[in-house]
Parts: sequence; structure tokens; C-alpha cells
Amino acid sequence: MASHHAGAPVRGSSPARAPDRPRPVRTLPYLAGKPVDVLAGVGERKADAFRALGIESVCDLLQHLPRRHHDRSRQVPVRDLAVGDDAFVIGVVDAVDVVRSRKGPSRVVVTVTDGSAHLLCTFFNQPWRARQLDSGAEVALYGKVSSYRGRRQMANPTLDLIGRAGRRRTGSIIALYPASEKVRLSSSEIADAISEALDRSGTFADPLPERWRVELGLVDRTTAYWRIHQPRSLSERDAALRRLAFDRLWHLQCLLVAKRRQMEQSALGIVHAVDPGVLDSDASRAAGIAVVDSPTVSLLGSFLERLPFGLTGAQRRAVGEILSDMAGPLPMHRLLQGDVGSGKTVVAAFALVAAVQGGHQGALMAPTEVLAEQHHGALLGLLGDLVVPDPGRLGGERDLKVALLTGRLAARERQSVLAGLAAREVDVVVGTHALLTEDVAFSSLGVVVVDEQHRFGVEQRSALRSKGTGSDPDVLVMTATPIPRTAAMTVFGDLDTTVLDEMPPGRRMPETHWARSVAEVASAWGRVRSEVAMGKRAYVVCPLVEGSEKLQARAVTEEYERLCGEELAGLHVGLMHGQLKGGEKDEVMDAFRSGAISVLVATTVIEVGVDVPEATVMVIEDADRFGLAQLHQLRGRVGRAGGESWCYLLAEDVSPDGEARLRALERLDDGFELAEVDLELRGEGTILGTRQTGRYGLAPARLGRDRDLLFAARKVAEDLVGSDPSLGEHPVLAAELRELMGEEAEFLFKS
Ligand code: ADP
Ligand code: MG
Repeated sequence: MASHHAGAPVRGSSPARAPDRPRPVRTLPYLAGKPVDVLAGVGERKADAFRALGIESVCDLLQHLPRRHHDRSRQVPVRDLAVGDDAFVIGVVDAVDVVRSRKGPSRVVVTVTDGSAHLLCTFFNQPWRARQLDSGAEVALYGKVSSYRGRRQMANPTLDLIGRAGRRRTGSIIALYPASEKVRLSSSEIADAISEALDRSGTFADPLPERWRVELGLVDRTTAYWRIHQPRSLSERDAALRRLAFDRLWHLQCLLVAKRRQMEQSALGIVHAVDPGVLDSDASRAAGIAVVDSPTVSLLGSFLERLPFGLTGAQRRAVGEILSDMAGPLPMHRLLQGDVGSGKTVVAAFALVAAVQGGHQGALMAPTEVLAEQHHGALLGLLGDLVVPDPGRLGGERDLKVALLTGRLAARERQSVLAGLAAREVDVVVGTHALLTEDVAFSSLGVVVVDEQHRFGVEQRSALRSKGTGSDPDVLVMTATPIPRTAAMTVFGDLDTTVLDEMPPGRRMPETHWARSVAEVASAWGRVRSEVAMGKRAYVVCPLVEGSEKLQARAVTEEYERLCGEELAGLHVGLMHGQLKGGEKDEVMDAFRSGAISVLVATTVIEVGVDVPEATVMVIEDADRFGLAQLHQLRGRVGRAGGESWCYLLAEDVSPDGEARLRALERLDDGFELAEVDLELRGEGTILGTRQTGRYGLAPARLGRDRDLLFAARKVAEDLVGSDPSLGEHPVLAAELRELMGEEAEFLFKS
């Protein structure tokens, strides 16, 4: 086996040792083309085991980063351990005994020696330890030292299996790799293969220009790969990790920036005739309402005049940004983020009106038909009594027409909407994403507003283009799930971002309590009764049940029946879940709106959009089983009229994580602050969701921790690919992106 450090051509801060002979510089795509079995010592069995870990190529292998590192110099000889110490020991297993007791569970007792003395390790309730460990295995142990019958022991220590003892090792740091018993590959076998891979690779090509590397204080690629796997100190390890984390974020940002620039280069934007001063007149500032000075009041002006309320500062800023995007020559690609109730609909309406004012049409896409219907209702209220010029008619004008297009329309209604869109008799249309895929032709589509996290892939974008008549419509994406800025940059980094960070006056999150004691739970239900007695409404939310929609419907139905006989006895209670038919849902919702039903027992179908202003209380059962963002969305359904409102979280036997979520919810009203907490608690996985982050994901980068690296990655990406979005001047980077980012990078290579 090659010794771990000989010939490592490490540059940068660590003392360099020149390679014995000039060696080729390896790119990651080159290594991705080498299957792991080219490595000495990796035969068929090991190659299979690697494959089971997702490792096919030498490149994959090098990306398999240590889970942690052990510093041998910090271990304490067993002989010197004192009872009560929190100690770290590396040793070799001497014996493994399963001790069965007649009463109580059996335990596994492992004797470990480090040459100075023996240490007993006792594992309770971990019978699999007997299979995991056998004599001769080298292990690292962390735990509290106690005494058992006069011998030093650790009870249930943290144990890492390093591998077989007796291998030659240099250096004091042991890299410990994620392995699994199932694939019969130990951490030290992985370390050996990686060592061989490093030796064979030698020097790595580094697409990050030296000047940036120096400015950001990052080590080079070669150092990064050698020192993540074979650090000589933990600080070397940290520097390597930082570089590799940077690379992950940087790759993604390069793609996002390139995508954005390519889009702009090929775009045929519409210059909308927006009166940019529409929000700026003194009168409007004073009243929070705009009056336009022009003799013929513009459509935007009269829309503003008719608004029943003044805009919040945040809405005003958002509208300003959107209108100036729309007035510009490039198509708008903007993300509008705002907490529940922050008033996104009105802002979206401005974009739609601006398009109509210029003689174009607007479309609003919602994720579900229910939401489309609700948006349609809201837009009718906001836009319904505006008039638009129509030279074809007597009087030269007609009412602005807002249409709904969903799968529920009868064929004839549908035909009439389609005809209206083609003839521009319909100005604004609301529907699901079927608006894009179906046979819908616009006369002149000016803006598309997309509600809730639809992401535009290449296909949807071309679908959008095909709806435009010779030009690209402006696009506004709205999301009600606040995500931290770092995550937004990662998920929506090809969009400009506007945040509505201010609530309309009087709008407050409900007072939120985690009801733990019997008395607190009773007072939660008491609140439901007292509010209902005052003519208000309440929601009771039951959690998702694993399995089918059917099972879930059954579970919520049972809970509904139970509640009707107990906590909610005597009240008018309704039931709502995903298995109800459209018509039944409508009936229940209508009854709840009118007050015929005063308590609605429901699944999370009420999470988005449902808007009943009289609802003032929500009880969420088994609240710990929901995610933080979802709980926040749910509670946003009450208190929409502005008065006092309450949200009660019921949960027992809560995990530490669940406890942190529920406590955060009690403490914080702001969706963005909660999103930061969520990022801390759960990592980025859930936020990034299905969004591609390349072959290796985002790890080792962590959005919560690596903010500075992310912003740096963006800056470098702008610098390198901002003016070269097809990466012609950066062939190594381009090849790397294609290899590591997969489909997400393909657009770079389409001519
Ligand atoms: P969301 O951002 O959750 O989609 P909506 O657009 O549905 O929020 O707005 C929530 C409620 O607040 C609606 O009833 C809307 O009419 C009202 N609203 C929006 N903007 C304002 C404002 N500036 N002043 C007062 N009420 C507003
Ligand atoms: Mg909304």
C-alpha cells in the first residue's frame, strides 16, 4: 500500500514536496470516467460494495468524504483514565461477549485494549453490536468512564469501527468514512482505496482562477482533496472542507448565473407601457393611494384608486420593482416571497393590470383548482369594475374581463374562454398549469404570475414562449413559504427576488400556545367553544396518516366522530379531507363560510389559501408531526380579519426536534425567522426538495453555516460566467459542470 503522504503534490499553505516526476493534471470528468476497479485492491467484490454506496468512479470515490476525523494525539491511554472522565480512546477489540440475564435485556460486553490496559464497553439494547464487532477490530470510543466491579468501563459509548487493526498508518488523524455493515466495506478499506486514488491522481486541475482563490483564502483543489482525506491536522481538514463546500455552491451558482444570462441573451422581452410615476405622486404618498396626473387616468392609476386600502411599504416597493422590470426590455423573472397574509395577491394584480394597460393579457397559474377558483374570486373583486379601451365597441371601451379556466368547466364554457383569449376579449385568465400545456392560445400574453413554487424547467419555459406571440412574457413567481435568503439564492438563484417583509396593518399571527397539561388542553377546547358562541369559527387540524389517501380520510373521519361526541359535542361540526368530491368540498366550505358549520375538522387541505375571515381559533392535533413551515402556513388561516386569534398546538411525547419546532412557533411570528430556525434544525434538504443540486448534492456545504461562501460563490460565478454564459472561456469548468450537475447543466451545451 502506498504510504499516505509520499508524493502528495500539495501546494498552498502546507509545505510542498515536489512530485518525483512531472505528472498529468487530472480533471474531475477524467476521473469520473475511471471505474473504481481500476484501483489496485479493488476487485469485483469491493466494486460491488462501492456501487452499493453509490460510488461508481474514482471521482465518486473522492467525493465520498469522511464523516469525521479522529485525532490520535487526543486519545488518552486506558491506563490513565479516571472514573468520571469524558474520554476518547482508540483500541483493538479483544473479546466480545453476549451476556444474557434471566430478567432484563441482554447486553453486549466488549473488551478493548490499547496496549496500556483493558477497557470494558457495555452495550445495552444493542444486540447487533455482537455482529458488528469481533476481536481484532480497531475502534474509536467516546464515553464517560465508570467503574464496574473494579474495572474501568464505558456504558453505551459512541463507537466508530475503523477497520482491522494492524495496518500501517502514518499521521495522527484517522478519517472515518460513512460505510455500512450491509455492504461489507469498512472505513479503513475505503480509506485505502481513496489513498490509492489520490496517489494515482496526483494533481487536480483547478478551474478556480488563482486570483479568486487567493482573495477568498481558499486552498487549491489538489490540497483540498488530499487534505480532506488525509489531513495532518484538523485545521488542514477544515481548510479542505471549506474549499470543497465552496466548489459545490460555486457550481450551482455558475449554472444559475449562466442560465439567467443565456435567457436574457435570447430573450425577446415586451416593453410594457407602464407609467413609472404611478406610485410616486404626492397625493398617493400621503393617502397611500396613487392619483395619476395624466388627463386620461391610466388603468394602473384607476386600479390603485379603487383599492380599498393603502399599500404597505413593502407592497409599494414590490410593485415598483415589478413595474420597472416590466417597463424594461428584458423579460421579468422575479420571485415574490411573502409570508401568509402579507398581501401578495394585490401585488400580483398590479403586474396583471400593467400588462392589460399595454394592450396585452395576463395569466395567473395556481397549483390547484381550488386555489385557482379562489384567486379568480379575489381578482374579480380587485379588477372586476375596471374598464379597458375597445375601439370595436360603441363607446370605445368595455369591462376588463377576468376568466377562470379549470378542468371543471363545461365544454361550452371552456370554448368560450378559449375564444375570448384568442380574440383578446379576455384580459386576465386564472387557472392551473394546464394553462400552459393545453391548447390555449393567447392573443398577446404579456405577463404570467405563478403562485406557489412551480419551478420553470426548460420545457415550461418553452411552453411559455410558445404562448407568447413572438415575444417572451414577463414572469412573476410567488411563494408563500418564506425561505431564508441563502436557500432562495440556491433554489431560485436565476430569479430576481422581492420580499414582502411587512404585514398589512392589523394583521397578526394568532397567539400560539403549545397546550401540554390536561388543563391547558381543556382551555384550548374551551376557547373553541367560547369563540363559536360569539359567532366565530374554528378549525381542528388532524395530521397526515402514513399510507394512502383513503387511510388518511378514515383517520380524520374517526377523529371527527370522536370529537363530535366529546370535546365538540353540541356544536355544528363539519368534516373536510382530500377524498371528498369537488362538489362535497364546496358544500362543506360554503357551510363553514356561512356559519351553518362552525367547526371544521380537516386534514391539511386547508393549508393553503382557504380564507374564512370569521375563523379565529385553530387546534392542531399531534402538532409535532408537522413541519415548521407547514404549521406556520396552517395557523395563517385564522385571524385573517385582524382581531384576536389563537392557535393551540396539541402534542405529547415530543422528540427534542419536535419540541424545538413547537417552541419556535410559540416564540416567533415571522415566517422568515422560522425558516432560519428550520434550516438550522433540518438542514437544507427539505427546503431544496427535489431541486437538482447535482450528482453529489450540496454537502459538505451547509447553507446555515456557509453564508459567506455562498455569497462569494455567487460573486465569482458572476465574474466568470456573467459575460460568458456558454462558458467558452472556461472549458474545464464547463466539462465539470456537465459531469457533476447532470441534466441541470445540459442547457450549456445546446447551441
Ligand atoms: P397572501 O400574501 O397570503 O396571498 P393576500 O394577498 O391573500 O395574502 O392578502 C391577505 C389579506 O390582506 C387579504 O384579505 C387582502 O385583501 C388584505 N390586504 C392585502 N394588502 C393589504 C393592505 N395593504 N392593507 C390592508 N389589507 C391588505
Ligand atoms: Mg395568496
